[in-house]
Amino acid sequence: MNDKILGIDLGTTHSAVAVVDAGFPLILADRDGNRLTPSVVHYPAGGGEPKVGHEALRMRSTAPKRTVYDVKRFMGRRTTDLKEDERNIGYELSTDPGSPIEVLMGESSVRPESVSAAVLAHLKRVAESAMEASLDRAVITVPAYFNDAQRQATLEAGRQAGLKVERIIHEPTAAALAYGLHRLKESSRIAVYDLGGGTFDITILEMVDGVFRVLATHGHTRLGGHDIDQSIVEHFLEQEELQKSKKELLQSPETMAKLRAAAEQAKKTLSQELETWIEIPFLTQSLHMRFPFHRETLEKLAAPWIDRTRECCLRAMHDANVESQELDQVVLVGGQTRMPMVRERVGDFFQCSDFEETRGNIRLGQDFHAQKGPTLNVGQHPDEAIALGAAIQGAMLSGSLEHMTLLDVTPLSLGLETFGGLMNVLIPRNSTIPLKAGEVFTTAVDNQREILIHVLQGEREKASDNWSLGRFVVPFEPSPKGVPRVGVQFEIDANGILHVLARNLHTGEEQVLEIQSAIDVTDQQVTEMVESSLEHALEDMDSRHWIEQKLKADQLTQAAQSSLVHASGLISTEEREAIEQKISLIRQIIGSENTESRTGDTDRLKQGIRELDEATQELAAGLMQEMATKLNPLP
Ligand code: AMP
Repeated sequence: MNDKILGIDLGTTHSAVAVVDAGFPLILADRDGNRLTPSVVHYPAGGGEPKVGHEALRMRSTAPKRTVYDVKRFMGRRTTDLKEDERNIGYELSTDPGSPIEVLMGESSVRPESVSAAVLAHLKRVAESAMEASLDRAVITVPAYFNDAQRQATLEAGRQAGLKVERIIHEPTAAALAYGLHRLKESSRIAVYDLGGGTFDITILEMVDGVFRVLATHGHTRLGGHDIDQSIVEHFLEQEELQKSKKELLQSPETMAKLRAAAEQAKKTLSQELETWIEIPFLTQSLHMRFPFHRETLEKLAAPWIDRTRECCLRAMHDANVESQELDQVVLVGGQTRMPMVRERVGDFFQCSDFEETRGNIRLGQDFHAQKGPTLNVGQHPDEAIALGAAIQGAMLSGSLEHMTLLDVTPLSLGLETFGGLMNVLIPRNSTIPLKAGEVFTTAVDNQREILIHVLQGEREKASDNWSLGRFVVPFEPSPKGVPRVGVQFEIDANGILHVLARNLHTGEEQVLEIQSAIDVTDQQVTEMVESSLEHALEDMDSRHWIEQKLKADQLTQAAQSSLVHASGLISTEEREAIEQKISLIRQIIGSENTESRTGDTDRLKQGIRELDEATQELAAGLMQEMATKLNPLP
C-alpha cells in the first residue's frame, strides 16, 4: 500500500482527485485525459454496477430518473429540509416526513452518501490507475458551511468507497493551500472567494510563521451557478416563442433539462463572447427555439445573485477584524468565477488594486506585494484548486511537506440552554478547531431530580431562536440545590464533528450525546441564522436583560415571601406592608410584560428589585440576628 494521501474535491457539479508527487501537487486524469469528473451517477435499470462521471452524464437526458446529479445538496439532510423547487431535478426524492432524504428509483432507493460513495470510488480507481499503486487514504473537502450532519454524511461516503478519510477540510482552506499562501510574505492574509455550481463560501485566512489560521468564514449553502442558470431559463420562458407554451414546457422534465443545459452553455460562452445564439431545434414536437442572448442581459440576470455574496464578504472581513487594504490577495475559485462580471464585482467588493492572472498551472510561491488594495488572483483552473489544496494537506499529514499546520474554525457558535431559556455559548463562532470546552452546571431548586442538557447551535440569545442539535437528561439523587454537579464537555475533532459528554461529578457516570444524523433546519436557515443575529441584536439583548432580571426577581420575591412567614416580632406592620407592596409591584411588572419593547419593563423591574432589596434590609438583619442567637445562645 502506498503511503500517499489523495486530495479529493467532492464537488456539487464536478469532482477531482489530486496527489503530491515528488513535491508537486498534481491533478490525476482518467484514461481519456479528463481532469474533472462530473459528480453524476447512473444506476442501470437492470441492476449492475453504477456508471459514474462522463459516462453517467451522457445518460442524463435519456434516463433522467435513474441518473443522479447535484447530490451534494442532499447530503445529511432530511425531507423536511427541502424546498419544493429543490425536488425539481429530474429524479425522484423520498417524501416521508422528517426522514433522511433518499433517491427513489422504482422499487429501489439509494442514499445521497451512497451516490457520493460511487463518485469517490471512481476517483479512487482513477488515482490508482494513474499512479499504478493501491491508494486508500484521502483528505476530502466540504464547504465551510456544511453542518455536522453533512460532514458525517461525507465521512460515511468515504467509508463506503473504501477510503480511510484522514481529514475533512474546508474547500476555501484547501484553495488557499493550492495558491501557495504559505509562500507569500512571512505573515500574510488572504480572502478565498469560492462560487461554484451550488454553494458559495468566503473565507479569510492568515498565515503566520508557518501556521495557517482561518480567521472567519461565511457563505450560502444554496447559492451558485445553478441559480444563475435558473434565472436564465426563466428569462427564456418569457421569450415570445416560448411564452405561449410555457405551461406545457414546465411540465416536461426532459424539456426543462434541455433548457437548463442550453442556459448553462450560453452562460459559459458569454464568459468569452459578448453575444451568443440559443438554438434548440426540437424543444418540443412543434417548437424550434432560436434567438440571440447577450452578455448584457446575462449580467442583469446574474447581478442579484452575485450581489448576494457581497454581504458575506463584508461580514467575513468584519468577523476577521481586517480591512480590505490589509489583505494581500483575494483568490477566486469555483467554476462560476470564470464569469468576467464576478471578477469585476469581487474586485470592487475588496477594493483590489491589481490583477494577477495565472496562465498554465497554478503557480506556487509567487511573492506579490500589493501597494494599496489586495491583488485579485484569478487562477486559470479555478475548478482544480481545491483538489490540489486537499492533496497538499494530505502531504502535510503524511509528513512529506513539513513546517505547516492547518487550523480551521467553527462556522456557528455551540452552546447549551440555560435556566430561563437563554443560550449559553461554550464554543464561540469562528473558534479554531480541534478544540475542547467545558463548564460545570448545578441544580437551581432543592430536590431537583434531573438536569436537561440541551445542545444548541446558532447566534441568537434565546435558546428557542437557535437550532436544537440534541438533548439528554442527567438524573440525580434528590439533594439540596447547588449540590449535584454536572460537567459538560464539548469536543470538536479535526473533522469539525461535535461530541458532547456529560459527567455526573459525584457518581462519575458519563453520557455521550449522539448528535442526530440530520438537523431539521433548511440550509436557507443557516444563512438566516447568521443574518438574523445582527438584525435582532438589540431585541435579543433586551430579551436577555429581561430574562436575567426576571430570574433575579423570582428568586428575591420567593425569598422575601418565605422570610415574611418568620417575620413576626421582627418588623413593624408598616414595614411588612411595604415589603408586600414591593412584591406585588414586581409581580405586576412581570405580568404586564410588553414583548414588543422590553427596555422600559426591564428598567422598572430593576428598580422594583432594588426597592424590594432595600425594604427587606431590616427584616434580613433581624432574621440573621435571630439565627445567630439560636446558634450561640447567650449564657
Ligand atoms: P464548480 O461547482 O466549481 O464545478 O462550478 C460549476 C459552476 O461553474 C457551474 O454553475 C458552471 O456553469 C459554472 N461555470 C463553469 N465554467 C464556466 C464559465 N466558463 N463561465 C461561467 N460559468 C462557468
